[in-house]
Amino acid sequence: MSDRLQVVEGDITRQQVDAIVNAANTTLLGGGGVDGAIHRAAGPELLEECRKLNGCPTGQAKITRGYHLPAKSVIHTVGPVWRDGRHGEDELLASCYRSCFALVAKHGIRTVAFPSISTGAYGFPMERAARIAVTEAKDFLGRDRSVEKVILVCFGKSAYETHLAAVKEICG
Ligand code: ADP
Repeated sequence: MSDRLQVVEGDITRQQVDAIVNAANTTLLGGGGVDGAIHRAAGPELLEECRKLNGCPTGQAKITRGYHLPAKSVIHTVGPVWRDGRHGEDELLASCYRSCFALVAKHGIRTVAFPSISTGAYGFPMERAARIAVTEAKDFLGRDRSVEKVILVCFGKSAYETHLAAVKEICG
């Protein structure tokens, strides 16, 4: 289990995987944070393809090519904006991970890297988000034997430590 689920500290745009996940907004037309970094690294072709997708609802995901990224594909998902935890935020965040994993399975992707969806501009508490990310990744890896690696890419040491703690808690 734990060898197929990895936590690393770094920049998601540098990951050598089949697909990286983008924490996008509902327009899919670019934003700041990880979205801005992915569009900069992928080049303008990514925005051109995103324009044809007509946006994406919160909790769902859409796939594009990766263009100049090392990753062949980008899975764009839209996390919930944190309000107070009583507006379906947990369920919507879990739905992001499940929607991404559904695309991973559908497209035969073997290695995928995720950023910590919703924990930047969208304000989702990191510890709570990390538990959801790890729970969904563990469930998926238990169901799908063909996926070799799920990498949770943490931006900064504190995010890294929070995710490692969630893996220890949930995966033992
Ligand atoms: P959201 O709007 O879903 O909150 P953000 O991009 O603002 O998305 O932040 C999501 C997470 O991605 C944050 O934890 C942020 O620190 C992290 N992040 C920002 N840039 C990168 C990057 N280049 N690689 C990996 N993670 C990143």
